[in-house]
Amino acid sequence: MSKELPRLSIVIPCYNEEEVLPVTVPLFRAQLQKMVQNGSIAADSRILFVNDGSKDGTWPLIEDLAARYVDVEGLSLSRNRGHQNALLAGLMEARSAFDITISIDCDGQDDIAVMQDMVDAYHNGNDIVYGVRKDRSSDTWFKRTTAQGYYKFLHAMGAEVVYNHADYRLVSARVLNAFSDFHEVNIYLRGMFPLVGFSSTSVSYDRHERLAGESHYPLKKMLALAFNGITSLSIKPIRIITSLGLFISALSFLLIVWVFISYFTGNSVPGWSSSVLATALLGGIQLLSLGVIGEYVGKIYLETKQRPRFIISERTWEDANV
Ligand code: UDP
Ligand code: MG
Repeated sequence: MSKELPRLSIVIPCYNEEEVLPVTVPLFRAQLQKMVQNGSIAADSRILFVNDGSKDGTWPLIEDLAARYVDVEGLSLSRNRGHQNALLAGLMEARSAFDITISIDCDGQDDIAVMQDMVDAYHNGNDIVYGVRKDRSSDTWFKRTTAQGYYKFLHAMGAEVVYNHADYRLVSARVLNAFSDFHEVNIYLRGMFPLVGFSSTSVSYDRHERLAGESHYPLKKMLALAFNGITSLSIKPIRIITSLGLFISALSFLLIVWVFISYFTGNSVPGWSSSVLATALLGGIQLLSLGVIGEYVGKIYLETKQRPRFIISERTWEDANV
């Protein structure tokens, strides 16, 4: 091959994953070696684990792996910042030294072998390759239905997201360099990469059960991520409120006309039920609207502070140089 082989970094965020890492690390390493051997990627490609402020033995485990294997490196955040920020930290770290990155969860749920298809798609001229789930049969009925409804809702809200794509994707350094100019603190990576542009494609895969350990995405975190997805990508909810306000104002105007006509024709009856109904309805809509607008104001508040999205406390390769 005349073109130089790309250096790949597999970026893997980990939060309290001491149970699953020993199971999945050999799988990740085997896949990396396979791709090195078949000439898809450079020999000095690496796996980069990002410890997201774990409270168990995840970091010592990563340090140990990094000391034992040259193809494993580790990065530790100063505290738990959540999956999206941990992933961002890893990607921003990798972009200067690597040509391509593949982000994946550490639990082996996403089919690791598909990395080969992603790298092939990169060789075919794509800068972003989205991993898309074939079906959601391994999910609970609840997660499946809510997730599908959510994608539809996101689309209706005008956000450009890839259907059934989570955070399993290949991204080239050139995309990451452009992405580093996105300074927002409310991040929803899967919805932001399409905004960067460049040529992209997707590959499909089957998603399995977790190989060990437990999910760190309870309903509360899932809802927070879902909500963040909408509000960080779209201002359509505010527009809908405006339209609703206009519609209700028009309706009220007709109501006023009707009230006047009733009054002058002598048909006015003390209408308890209608006034209670109107008050309740308007009160509800007003509170809801205030809530949605408040959500955006809150986001503006967070953005204006421009706090760092993550703070790196340790790197395994700094130790290695001492
Ligand atoms: N994760 C993280 N920080 C967190 C929560 C999760 O880095 O605060 C990582 C976790 O270690 C895993 C990935 O994000 O690699 C996805 O998490 P999980 O498998 O628990 O979520 P699920 O697959 O159930 O949606
Ligand atoms: Mg998982």
